[in-house]
Amino acid sequence: MPRTYIGTLRGLEDGTRVVIYGWMQEARIMKNISFLILRDSTGTIQATFKNNEATLDIIKRISRESIVRVEGTVNKKSISKAGIEISGSSVSVVNEAEAPLPLPVVDPVQADLETRLNSRFMDLRKRNIAAIFRIESSLLWGIRSYLHDQKFIEVHTPKIVAAATEGGSDLFPVRYFEKDAYLNQSPQLYKEVLMSAGFDRVFEVGPAFRAEEHNTTRHLNEFTSIDIEMSFADHNDAMTMLENAIRSGIEIAVRDNADDFEALGVSVSVPETPFPRITYEQCIDVIGKEGIDFTFGEDFSPEHLRIIGSRFSGFYFITEWPASVRPFYTMPKTEDPRLTNSFDLQYHEIEVTSGAQRVHDPKMLIERFNEKKLNVNSFQFYVDAFRYGMPPHAGWGLGLERLTMILLGLNNIRETTLFPRDRTRIVP
Ligand code: ATP
Ligand code: MN
Repeated sequence: MPRTYIGTLRGLEDGTRVVIYGWMQEARIMKNISFLILRDSTGTIQATFKNNEATLDIIKRISRESIVRVEGTVNKKSISKAGIEISGSSVSVVNEAEAPLPLPVVDPVQADLETRLNSRFMDLRKRNIAAIFRIESSLLWGIRSYLHDQKFIEVHTPKIVAAATEGGSDLFPVRYFEKDAYLNQSPQLYKEVLMSAGFDRVFEVGPAFRAEEHNTTRHLNEFTSIDIEMSFADHNDAMTMLENAIRSGIEIAVRDNADDFEALGVSVSVPETPFPRITYEQCIDVIGKEGIDFTFGEDFSPEHLRIIGSRFSGFYFITEWPASVRPFYTMPKTEDPRLTNSFDLQYHEIEVTSGAQRVHDPKMLIERFNEKKLNVNSFQFYVDAFRYGMPPHAGWGLGLERLTMILLGLNNIRETTLFPRDRTRIVP
């Protein structure tokens, strides 16, 4: 008989014969009957057995979290809280779980994050923890399908590279046979080269590696970056694409993951677009009104962002950042070259995306390299792509784990990462 998912039982008629496979979450043995709570990826169900020698002998020996097979019939007249159960006719153990468990799956007391991450496979069996990753998947699905509809091509660029994207530190060196190489911090250079290649619109979902020394609740050393680059477009086009892509992601998650939001006790609504736009200089005024000193040309500290974020209830853009705090490839603002055609998308006080119109003129690009004291020679493959017909272009990079974190109101980015890599953790 084929396997039936627990989540589909309600749709079956009373008395239907079914075979269920799942984890044995809990067993209770009474005088005349026994109960098993079974769990699969779609839910939990109680199976009730009349005690006879054969089944009782098995049920007594099943350890928690063992994989079991239960055959029985659907009972929709059940007096259980769920109103539905399986009247079990036979049970067998497919694969036994050892005892004790490294981490309980059903326990009102929440273990600390370190303990949970050490036994992540157990932690992920919890309904509310699994919910995070189902929602993250839908968010990405919604963003991906929006970009696909907008005629973006999904691409895959190298993660082992010879030159630093931003020319900076924060790089993980790797040995590449006789050469030195690095793990890529961002697909920036490659996605721009693809604009010269004539691809017009590209996006990539892939790992980005940052050897950031600090351990914070919003940084990982390996994260998932959703990147786009589009031709014949400027920062305003890129911002529109971003807010629509995020709205689409949230729409799909809200549509498909109601149970997961409920399991998490979180309610999310689809944000209205366009998101507010506020310039860097307006932000300085906001900070100034709080009596805090701020010098033009600096980056905002977390404290500054808290003040700015307190003025907005959800997503908003900070635009026109000074060139001093943006990478070399950022397009200066025509009317005021101290500023750039750049933006960050913020959610309250947290950055979720950085983007900009890029420099497309090769002469200006080389000037920008020099201003940032970067060696043009290490970027030859990149600069070459600008010399033979590069369209104007713009794009952004969005951190998937960070987006999921802020949307679900979680306080640590490790919660939205299956197997986080941080300053001290590379296992599991
Ligand atoms: P931050 O200032 O928060 O360190 P950043 O400005 O260095 O971020 P960008 O290079 O602009 O980051 O990367 C684009 C996006 O990628 C960020 O807005 C964020 O969502 C995500 N991101 C960047 N660094 C990390 C990281 N270490 N861990 C998780 N996500 C990150
Ligand atoms: Mn940024």
